[in-house]
This record gives sequence, C-alpha cells and structure tokens, in this order.
Amino acid sequence: MGYAIETFDPEIFEAIQSELERETDHLEMIASENFTFPEVMEAMGSVFTNKYAEGYPYKRYYGGCEFADKVEQLAIDRACELFGCLYANVQPHSGSQANGAVYAALIKAGDKILGMDLSHGGHLTHGSKPSFSGKNYQSFTYGVELDGRINYDRVMDIAKIVRPNILVCGASAYAREIDFKKFREIADAVGAILFADIAHVAGLVVAAEHQSPFPHAHVVTTTTHKTLAGPRGGMIMTNDEDIAKKINSAIFPGLQGGPLVHVIAAKAVGFKHNLSSDWKLYANQVKANASKLAEVLISRGYDIVSGGTDNHLVLVSFLNKDFSGKDADAALGNAGITVNKNTVPGETRSPFVTSGIRIGSPALTRRGMKEKEFELVAHKIADVLDDINNSTLHAKIKEEMKKLARDFIIYTKPIY
Ligand SMILES: *Cc1c(COP(=O)(O)O)cnc(C)c1O
Repeated sequence: MGYAIETFDPEIFEAIQSELERETDHLEMIASENFTFPEVMEAMGSVFTNKYAEGYPYKRYYGGCEFADKVEQLAIDRACELFGCLYANVQPHSGSQANGAVYAALIKAGDKILGMDLSHGGHLTHGSKPSFSGKNYQSFTYGVELDGRINYDRVMDIAKIVRPNILVCGASAYAREIDFKKFREIADAVGAILFADIAHVAGLVVAAEHQSPFPHAHVVTTTTHKTLAGPRGGMIMTNDEDIAKKINSAIFPGLQGGPLVHVIAAKAVGFKHNLSSDWKLYANQVKANASKLAEVLISRGYDIVSGGTDNHLVLVSFLNKDFSGKDADAALGNAGITVNKNTVPGETRSPFVTSGIRIGSPALTRRGMKEKEFELVAHKIADVLDDINNSTLHAKIKEEMKKLARDFIIYTKPIY
C-alpha cells in the first residue's frame, strides 16, 4: 500500500510487518483474541483520530462535531439493534474502563461487589484485590464447583450472606453457558443490581448462540474486540433510562475525557458486520469448532474442565499430570500454537505456573477453519502434550502448523 511510515519510521514499519508475519504463521488460539476486519482497521486509521468530541451526540463541548455526531449515533443505534436494548454508551476505551464506569455510576466507594473469583474464571475488574474494583469497593467472590460449573444454589447462599450492592456475572475462562435468568433471581432475592459482563461471549450472544443478558441484567458491558471481532474497546448497555444517564455521566466527565471517535467509527463498522447474516454462520462455526477441539482432546485422554464446552473455549486440566499449564503453554508455543496457561478448579500450583490451559476457537474460525482443521489441530495439541519435552517434535509440528496457517491467509495486503 506504500504508507509513508515505511520511509519515515522503518523501525515501527518493520515491527508491524513482523507482527503481521507472526499473526499469519502462528495458530492463534488465545480465547480473548480475534482478527478484526480490514474495514474496521480503515476506520481506526481515519481522520477521526484528529477530532475532539467531548460530550455525547448533538450535545458536545467542541465545535465541528457534525460528522463525529453522525458516527457515534450510528454506533449507538447499531449496538442497540444488535443486542436488542434501548441505551448504549460506545465511548469506553476498554472493557475495564466500561466496568469501572458501571461501579462509579451505580454504587459508592466501600459498597459491596460479589463477582466470580479470578482463579475460577472471573475477571480482574469483578472485585479482584489488585484491581480498582477490589481496592475501592468491598469485594466478595463465588466460584465454580470441582465439576467446573457454577452452582447457582451456592451463589444464592453466598449472596444472602454477603448482601452485595452489585452482583457481577460473566467470565473470562468459563466454558459453560451463563444463566442470566438465574443470576437475576439471586440479585432480586438480595436487592442487588445485576451486572452482566459479556466481554467473552458477546459475539455468540448477538447471533443467539448464547443466552442474552437482556432482559435479565440491569446493566451489561462488553469488549468489542474479542468474539465480536471489532476494534479494541468497550461498551455499556441497559434498558433503564435512569441507569443510562448515570452511566453516561460516569464515562464523561467521570472517568474519561474526549472519546476516541476513530475507534467509535470502527465499532460501528464492526457492528455492521455483526448484524450481517454471515455473522450467524461465524458464531455457529466458532461453537462447532470449540466442541470438536474438546471432543478430540477427550478422546486423547485429556481432562477437560466441566467435560466439554457450550461456547468458544475449552479449559484443559493437568492436575493429574506431571507438567504444568506453564509447561504446556511453552511447548505449544514452540509448536506454533498460541494458547494461555490458566488456573483450574481445585488448583494446586501457583497462578504463575497453573495446572491448565485455555484454548479458544474465535480467531482461527475467522480465518475460515472448520471442524476438519480443528480436528487436525487438536490432535497436534495432544501430540505436543503427550511428548512435552520433545523439542524436535515440537519444531516439526511448528512447520506443519505454519503450512496450515498459510492456507488460511486473512490479510492479503502487505501491511495494515
Ligand atoms: C477481557 C475482559 C475484560 C476487559 O477488557 P479490556 O479491554 O482488556 O480492559 C473485562 N471483562 C471480562 C470478562 C473480560 O474477559
């Protein structure tokens, strides 16, 4: 494409080229990652990066916002259509910022949050101690049982003892469907606000491949870059006008200054993809591919947390093995397959070592891989794990995986 960056800043240019090569030649199986659309990247690289637009559409603190207004209103309208809700704030710079705004809008410092334990699949921002959510609020946790599933009766018991102001549901490493209706019953029983964070499953929700948090949750947040495959960013939604007003003030002027209008434009473009009929096929394939992965790994004797998956990810447990999640992550990395180490229920090793890995299907599905390729890749994963110290084998598999990856090129232009 001949961008000026090539001559102006060769160091950064080369890093971008190398990243493109890395993304092309490896099998990306980190469950939170995806390949966004070239049109999304075009919008992100647009002149809107120049524009200050503090405020909201048609109520700005700066002049010259007529096109920014149009972009943000389109993003909001598409988000509401996509999720079937009444209000959306598309300004959060990230999922964590979105979650921070929910607490800032709806509870006071020192109030109580009840969320899923980080080591059981929850997110830092659900009350984890090193996060603002665990520092500014009193945080309490629920987890999964040894079978890897949430026991809703148990969550009810914990909620009755804790009596949280906000009950958080949603996770980063949970392979089963989240029952928002049951969570709402628990929230109602203790007078809590139900906050659903669907950062991981949003792309499935919009295709009706996962239960929707609406009408159950009072407030919903998501990232736009995970299963939704849009630009890196966050979003907050609700059907409650009063909550919507509080959320808007919490984002601006509460937590953020000017919105990233170029990213909001990219969110709108991503939502247009999510609204298309092709998206349903994609989401369905994401689930079929994750199921195939689980099926093959089980047939090869691996222990899958909860015995399978309802969504886009699989958690493999090595509690009964003499190697760790960290070892598996490194060995698979050497074989050209990128995953991440993850704690598992009944964890015995430290969070830096862990006894599991999390493997996701969204990114490879975006490259066009189907059950046939996932079956092959799952066997290669098992081959690596079966022979975890055999670096010659890992190097050989890496070459095979590179060939496979190159049959599924996603970006054809030399640079983005
Ligand atoms: C990824 C994630 C987030 C945070 O998103 P960032 O954009 O990385 O800040 C929040 N909640 C859950 C459940 C997530 O998985």
